[in-house]
Amino acid sequence: MSLFKRALSGVKVPHCKNTQESATVEMPVPAQVALPMLQHMGAPCKPLVKAGDHVKVGQLIGDSDQFLSAKIHSSVSGDVVKIEDYINPTGVRTQCVVIKTNGLQEPSEEIAPPVVSSREDFLKAVKESGLVGLGGAGFPTAVKLNPKNPDQVDTLVVNCAECEPYITADYRECMENASGVLDGIKAVMKYLNLKQAYIGIEDNKPRAIEYMRSLIISGDPIQVVPLKAKYPQGAEKVIIYETTGRVVMEGQLPADAGVLVMNISSVAFVNQYLRTGMPLVSKRLTVDGSAVKEPKNVRVPLGTSFEDVLNFCGGFKEEPRKVLMGGPMMGIAVYSLQTPVIKNNNAILAFAEAQAVTPEETACIRCGRCARACPFHLMPASIERSLKQEDAQALEKLKVNLCMSCGCCAYVCPAKRDLVTSNNMAKKFLRAHAAKK
Ligand code: SF4
Ligand code: SF4
Repeated sequence: MSLFKRALSGVKVPHCKNTQESATVEMPVPAQVALPMLQHMGAPCKPLVKAGDHVKVGQLIGDSDQFLSAKIHSSVSGDVVKIEDYINPTGVRTQCVVIKTNGLQEPSEEIAPPVVSSREDFLKAVKESGLVGLGGAGFPTAVKLNPKNPDQVDTLVVNCAECEPYITADYRECMENASGVLDGIKAVMKYLNLKQAYIGIEDNKPRAIEYMRSLIISGDPIQVVPLKAKYPQGAEKVIIYETTGRVVMEGQLPADAGVLVMNISSVAFVNQYLRTGMPLVSKRLTVDGSAVKEPKNVRVPLGTSFEDVLNFCGGFKEEPRKVLMGGPMMGIAVYSLQTPVIKNNNAILAFAEAQAVTPEETACIRCGRCARACPFHLMPASIERSLKQEDAQALEKLKVNLCMSCGCCAYVCPAKRDLVTSNNMAKKFLRAHAAKK
């Protein structure tokens, strides 16, 4: 049975795109940055510098010999103060390079545009750039662009859905750097031999749709596809289906459906790197939420603390009760304002008491709303029950491994059940069960 037998569901969420028309502001270089050696999905990097070393912007400071990883470069010039242990907001411990900046932003002598004339050169350049999926997933781009079946991949899907409330960083990329986005798309298509590209943009961003369309030269195999403004249009499998009609089946990767998906800011960065050779050292993010005095889109050096970014946005107008890295649907609550901005961090949202209340859970009333909201037609209430019964067979049948933790089910649940947590626990339970077997 097809995963998408019925139309994809999802939920309507308030857009709250308050910063949509706020042009990106460059934040001054902070006094100190902290660069964790894990800013991506996969293996952490090992620091290549030590306390006392002088570093420059774009200098390689962390690397790994593992396949799934991404290089880390200094975002500032200055002196390494220490290498310390850091526990990220998901609880993973990693090393972190702390650099006291000298404010000069001296570029590293290593910086030069890469020489690219083949697929291999291009993939090597993407790897050297340290790029990871900038939309939130943090998957190393050089790995994503090099699937095991390159000859069967013919399509690039560019994700500009930006369906999470509040976040407008990708919208700003579209409005401020559309020609860079298109050049990035053309480079990816040229070197990976792709026939066509689709740019998916939600229809609550009509200016972005119109502007992007106006820059596409007639005859170019690039199309803008307006998508219904609904969450989670930007989820990988969802946007592939909505733009191309192709289905990524359970256990498959997008490349198995002949597609590569890139976030719009990632594709724009590819163009920038090919032109300048400056690796990924800064990030545009949206700063918003009821506790923030001056919501903004801001470009900051990687490793800048949340506190410095929030102070740059005027500080708090109300005491924050919850601060999120990312959007309100899939973002992660941070435990400290010293948390540094990392590569896949596209928003800092700070909410005051009234918007941060955790609702009390009541008993499931078996209304079925969670299943109707799920884009993959999973049955979260049954998953929750089967998890309680530790029934691995039932959980497998319920296909909990398809769950992408989008939160639509919990969002619509009248009993306020914490279904995302139970789905995640069920996946963990199945992994442990499989390991035992
Ligand atoms: S939406 Fe909530 S109350 Fe309704 S069936 Fe699902 S878990 Fe139960
Ligand atoms: S969190 Fe999982 S089960 Fe819930 S709606 Fe999203 S994909 Fe479906």
